[in-house]
Amino acid sequence: MEQILPENWAIMHFGLIFCITCAQMLVVYVLSDSSNPPAGLGLYTVYFMAALLGWIAVTLQQGPNPPMAVDVPSVASILNSYILFMAAGQRAGMTVGRLPLGIVCLLGSLSVFFLSPTRMFAVQNSAAALFFTCTGALCAWRAWRQANVGDGIIAFAATLMMVGIPIALYQQFAMEDIAQAQSIAFGVHSSAYVLVAIGFLASVLIEYQQHLSHLATEDPLTRLLNRRGLEDALYISLAQASRHELPTSALMVDIDHFKQVNDSFGHEVGDQVIRQVADFLDRLSRNTDVVARTGGEEYLLVLPDTGLGAARVLAERIRAAIGDHPLLVENQRIPVTVSIGVACTEGDVNLDELSQEADRALYLAKRGGRNRVASVEASSLRMRTGS
Ligand code: GH3
Ligand code: MG
Ligand code: MG
Repeated sequence: MEQILPENWAIMHFGLIFCITCAQMLVVYVLSDSSNPPAGLGLYTVYFMAALLGWIAVTLQQGPNPPMAVDVPSVASILNSYILFMAAGQRAGMTVGRLPLGIVCLLGSLSVFFLSPTRMFAVQNSAAALFFTCTGALCAWRAWRQANVGDGIIAFAATLMMVGIPIALYQQFAMEDIAQAQSIAFGVHSSAYVLVAIGFLASVLIEYQQHLSHLATEDPLTRLLNRRGLEDALYISLAQASRHELPTSALMVDIDHFKQVNDSFGHEVGDQVIRQVADFLDRLSRNTDVVARTGGEEYLLVLPDTGLGAARVLAERIRAAIGDHPLLVENQRIPVTVSIGVACTEGDVNLDELSQEADRALYLAKRGGRNRVASVEASSLRMRTGS
């Protein structure tokens, strides 16, 4: 790329890009604790560093000294837009297309030794536009899946490249105005770079904020809801139950003699057992049921629009599914049983009272010998043994 800006402007432009990159990387690194860094952080860092080197090369080329023998900025542009594509893929958890685009990147970079600067300009911009298009697709997909506007901003940067680069190439080939073509390409690359920097920062910040709000409502071991998450999730169902006088049931599930599992197999295995039981509960319940981990080895299921009879049937199915076969954890067979207390109410639901009733039923199931289901209805305790 030849001289586009007066020397002072080139240095100011580079200074601006340098400051944006440093500020952005600083914030991202402060936010990312080493145990849980944002996905794609490493490759995005490589992209920003490679892009900075490219911008340094562009800046050097704007001075009075003769241009470099090899068109370094063009090669840097091809390489860093390919790295951006890989970084976006890593962040989106997709590796598709790396090999074919890698070959395009290699051929594009090597062509600097064979092509005239004008042809190289076309190759560089076409390759960069191709890589940005694929990056844009990945980021748009991630923006939609994760509800993250930061990835949407990167997808927008890609759209800018997809529109701007063909205009630059049109200026070069149809209008034969190479100076104009270079100015357009320079503007598009600069804007896209700044948008990627802002987009990545926004994406990480939004992800971090989503993580914090999950922590408030989600149990980190099982990924089930915690007590607060349960209340939030039931907000609408309970309002409907109250309005239409619908029944609502609760199941309190507790693993039997869990202390012995920890003592015999260790705490790690105990954690796996808690996870596996959570998976059973999640799989066996309906989409409209809400499953939460409310204590160490204790879970609460709330079943909207479900009477006591149907709730007992589900409780028995859960008890049998867990108790009939030993769990397989780290190649060890661990016999696990659960006791379940069932309670039901109609109309207005007081979640605390309903779970206390289910807890009372659970106490009866434990007292009755464990590995069984017990239920209470309208405060009259009625025992039904399940096994
Ligand atoms: P019961 O049949 O009466 O329910 O007996 P239990 O041993 O299951 O109940 P108890 O309440 O006496 O013990 C529960 C144990 O669960 C004690 C505690 O160390 C263990 N525990 C609590 N939270 C966790 C956890 O997150 N991971 C593991 N591995 N163990 C936990
Ligand atoms: Mg227990
Ligand atoms: Mg317990």
